[in-house]
Amino acid sequence: ATERRPLIAGNWKMNLDHLQGIALVQKLAWTLKDAGFDSGAVEVAVFPPFTDLRSVQTLIDADRYALALGAQDLSPHDSGAYTGDVSGAFLKALDCAYVLIGHSERRTGHGEGDEVVRAKVQAAVRHGLVPVICVGETEAELEEHGTSAVPVRQTKAALEGVAAGTPVVIAYEPVWAIGTGKVATPETAQEVCSAIRNAVAEALGDADAAATRVLYGGSVKSGNIAGFMRQPDVDGALVGGASLDAAEFAGIARFR
Ligand code: PEP
Repeated sequence: ATERRPLIAGNWKMNLDHLQGIALVQKLAWTLKDAGFDSGAVEVAVFPPFTDLRSVQTLIDADRYALALGAQDLSPHDSGAYTGDVSGAFLKALDCAYVLIGHSERRTGHGEGDEVVRAKVQAAVRHGLVPVICVGETEAELEEHGTSAVPVRQTKAALEGVAAGTPVVIAYEPVWAIGTGKVATPETAQEVCSAIRNAVAEALGDADAAATRVLYGGSVKSGNIAGFMRQPDVDGALVGGASLDAAEFAGIARFR
């Protein structure tokens, strides 16, 4: 994936309040700096809870840390009577570059299907946020449909109505590998990420497919990232548990 700048994205999930988030980001930035990390070569992004975003953004801004910011979800609506929801406009105002959409914990825990995911992708694009669209099969779906069918279907559904030239990121996260310690083989990740890239080509055209970063996620650690990053169609990782430890996450970002 030499033509694409790899993206290492840390999904904190519902962990770390804003003070803990500040501490983690400081430690991460210092660890990367001490290691002479080249942020031009690899992009590192953090996805804190909503309540941390303002503090983390202020810190990144004040200390000029080379870290991108993302949110874990957004409303499909822009504003109004949607108690508890968060508008993409508010995320954009906090300098979020990215927003996760369709994480398996939202698909299963909040009943978000292809239609909701598509509406949220549209909202992200309306507000100038790059959607990080999470796709992946459950263990049962793996047995029934094989490796690529579900992620490819979810990718096509999410990209319906998206115009060519719109930047998107797709994260292939087999549900059975998220937070379980079970990990896909690099070869399987490559097979599925390649199939996802073909789905992006169908939806947005070959040029967009060549530019789109497709990530692998699911129990990524500093000890297994290199195998994934050697695959031609794997352009980075979406990291959950291991992103909560600055040294471990920095180790993942320094996969080379
Ligand atoms: C995730 O939440 O996106 C994830 C991949 O989690 P973990 O790295 O803990 O498996």
